[in-house]
Amino acid sequence: MPAVVRTLLLILAAILLAGLVWLPTWAGAAPAAAVTDVGTLPESQPTDLLLEGAPLDTRYTLVLDAGHGGIDGGAVDTTGTVLEKDVNQTMVDKVTALLAAHANQLRVVQAVEPDTNATVLARANTAVKEQADLFLSLHLNGDTHESSRGFQCFPTPPGRPYADESLRFARLLVQQVQQTDAFILGTEGIFYCYYVRQGESGYYKEILDIAQTDPATPRADESFGVVEYSGCPSVLIEQWFITSAEDMALFNSEAGYDTMANSIYQAICAYFQLN
Ligand SMILES: [Zn+2]
Repeated sequence: MPAVVRTLLLILAAILLAGLVWLPTWAGAAPAAAVTDVGTLPESQPTDLLLEGAPLDTRYTLVLDAGHGGIDGGAVDTTGTVLEKDVNQTMVDKVTALLAAHANQLRVVQAVEPDTNATVLARANTAVKEQADLFLSLHLNGDTHESSRGFQCFPTPPGRPYADESLRFARLLVQQVQQTDAFILGTEGIFYCYYVRQGESGYYKEILDIAQTDPATPRADESFGVVEYSGCPSVLIEQWFITSAEDMALFNSEAGYDTMANSIYQAICAYFQLN
């Protein structure tokens, strides 16, 4: 081999060798020394953060809404001392405590902070934001007639998405409350409420027993905002009449609250088939 060719081959070999050595750097590979720290996260790393984001959480989500709050006390008893908003909050707390036993299957979120002024839409929006699977708004009824009494459910009306599932939950609620001494209003305790336009800017509230409605011909009139805009199956319940002596004797006590809270709890367990 001529000396010139041999020299050229040697130079070529040197260039190729240099290229192989530097290739990893050209390709953007990380320097080997930086790899050694991987896997030593600080011990204080909050690993439970992974459970807090709704998309990563595989549990069901229930939003509980204590009706009224802040300057809106809701209905008042005949003595003027018991406010609906306080009882509703107590009931939400009791149901939440009972459901804690199923925390591995169900996440419970309150629609609003206790005793705050919040619009109906803000309450419904919590369910949308939390990607809720079920929304329940707790209320007490009030009437000028002391004889008015009983338990009532208002699911999302026919024709809306989630109407069927709302009705299924309403029926489970009635099924449970029926086992207490509560009086069940109407044919089966289930009603639809519609705000019907009257004149230029007025509305009146029309309450229909489920037996008086035809699911095949849905109405466009709006129902309660919490059952229209929560983006999931929703029911509003009037647990009892705060103005009824009979209802108050049954439920306005620690034992009475527990009885109603347990019925609501059982209905939620049945709805989600919690175990
Ligand atoms: Zn109310």
